[in-house]
Amino acid sequence: MSHWKQSDTVFMSEPSVHISEIFYSLSGEGITAGVPTVFVRLSGCSLRCGVTSDGRKLWCDTPYALGPNTGEKMNVSEVFARVEQFGVAETQILLSGGEPLEGEDKREFCALFSERVWKKRHNSLFSSPRIETNGREPISGLEHMVFTLDYKLPGSGMEGEMFLENFTFLRERKNSLDEIKFVVRDRKDFERSLEVIHSYQLQEMNLLFSPVEKECTGADLADWIKAAGIPNSRLSLQLHKILWGNKRGV
Ligand code: SF4
Repeated sequence: MSHWKQSDTVFMSEPSVHISEIFYSLSGEGITAGVPTVFVRLSGCSLRCGVTSDGRKLWCDTPYALGPNTGEKMNVSEVFARVEQFGVAETQILLSGGEPLEGEDKREFCALFSERVWKKRHNSLFSSPRIETNGREPISGLEHMVFTLDYKLPGSGMEGEMFLENFTFLRERKNSLDEIKFVVRDRKDFERSLEVIHSYQLQEMNLLFSPVEKECTGADLADWIKAAGIPNSRLSLQLHKILWGNKRGV
């Protein structure tokens, strides 16, 4: 385990984590879809989205990043330097996975990396890296980050893993860049997402709905979103797949 002190940035040693890939592209989803973004993909996730008791299969977009030891082991300074090499100092940085907050080393890495980015560019719109997280890991107390928080619906087979206190944290901090994402397999999933939104009073959050590829059409989901009429909801299609197909590094 590494030892570091966030309050005065005295670092005895930096956490190292396995990084699956780092690349520069456009954000594919959510309220920043289309925005130039540097992606840092951390390896390892122990959820298996799409795998259900009735025999349905994994739908994860990044199966190559599920193993915790895949990719290259790098510390915060090394990743920071690689990001800087793209020469895009003001643009969005996205920490994704795998699951970037699973395990103490990855949490420390994300906290320290985000603090370092924020110190360098704290007056810009994208001063805080965006963390794309699967809804199982606690996020309260993590500073200098904005969140894309998944809520895994029944069709994912992972709903029982959700850490529901995260909703309270996001509701109370009122950061207009935070978003909650629902990946929808079918109509039953969509109805469950509406229940969750009402139960946890999420109506003022940015709410994203994405269809599961080959199982739910964007057109059907668009109709359901229109009928539900929640003001901050939006259809979120995967722009990178529309532009470049289903491949890595874009
Ligand atoms: S949480 Fe994300 S990385 Fe993990 S299995 Fe689900 S989609 Fe894949």
